Amino acid sequence: MRPLVCSIHLDALRHNLAVARRAAPQSRIMAVVKANGYGHGLLNVARGLAAADGFAVLGLNEALMLRAAGYSQTLLLLEGVFIADELQQAASQHISVVVHNEQQLQMLEQASLPAPVSVFIKMNTGMNRLGFTPARYADAVARLQACPTVGGITLMTHFATADDDQGVEPAWTLFQQHTSQLTHARSLANSAALLRYPHTHADWVRPGIMLYGASPVTGTPAASLDLQAVMQLHSELIAVQTLQPGDSVGYGQRFTATRTTHIGIVACGYADGYPRHAPNGTPIAVSGTLTRTVGRVSMDMLFADITDIPQADIGSPVELWGAQVPVDAVAEASGTVGYELLCALAPRVHVKVV
Ligand code: PLP
Repeated sequence: MRPLVCSIHLDALRHNLAVARRAAPQSRIMAVVKANGYGHGLLNVARGLAAADGFAVLGLNEALMLRAAGYSQTLLLLEGVFIADELQQAASQHISVVVHNEQQLQMLEQASLPAPVSVFIKMNTGMNRLGFTPARYADAVARLQACPTVGGITLMTHFATADDDQGVEPAWTLFQQHTSQLTHARSLANSAALLRYPHTHADWVRPGIMLYGASPVTGTPAASLDLQAVMQLHSELIAVQTLQPGDSVGYGQRFTATRTTHIGIVACGYADGYPRHAPNGTPIAVSGTLTRTVGRVSMDMLFADITDIPQADIGSPVELWGAQVPVDAVAEASGTVGYELLCALAPRVHVKVV
């Protein structure tokens, strides 16, 4: 069997959930498990996060999978439903829906449902992606309140800049101003806001990335936030090459040795979800020692400089990312974010839950 394995550490999920609980002790936790649990496997992460108060997913299919697996928590569809049949199914399975546009509001107004549906109504506070404008928001809430089909209402927004220097204040103030007359439950904070802005915690926090042990705050390592990597992508060396000065390795000869250089060939490539644009120098660990990638990432293989790791040989263990090599470090070197690498793990990678 190919040695590339993605290990999912359930104890790390539990640990990170506890970090979120400690940071927001008064709030219920809606664990965001969309995109197949940020690439970790929906049911795998639900197991590790079974103590969460709710799960947020994208589509009805994911919510139905969680219900079928026996999870009785609040389940939330983050983009809501787009056809009436989905609304019927959501109501009958007690699945909550986000309402973010006029069509969804009208669908609720016209629906006759088997059970009342709980609604999170979204305000657009600057992301300009989904949600009612602040000016229209109170009216939309009043229309929801008048719907016999609506069970509970939670006021909601999603911050565009909780993770960077801009912070959340303008969005937070807008939300406060336009909800000051409303007494419903509220949900605002993603991971970054949960960790950085306690005044936004309210009734439900919605952490995603922090639960997987990657950093939600630009420039802040996950370990310094006491987060543990859940996904460890690991493999082995399947060949070793020795380059003389002037020799190159890989497609395009993007790395040329200036001294005698030993190269470990790692069984992992871009068809596994490793970023093809990872440059020379991207961190990687071989036999427990941190080193760097060299050369262009191939479809099934990539190259590690093992010159200073004398014990490294065919069969030596390699960590692409995990506890020793933060996924954020690989992402940063490659010009992306940890979210993308985790979500992009290819289906052909063998997943092991530990
Ligand atoms: N809430 C909403 C509406 C989201 O779309 C997301 C993720 O994109 C989250 C919460 C979780 O965000 P994060 O993973 O940054 O914690």
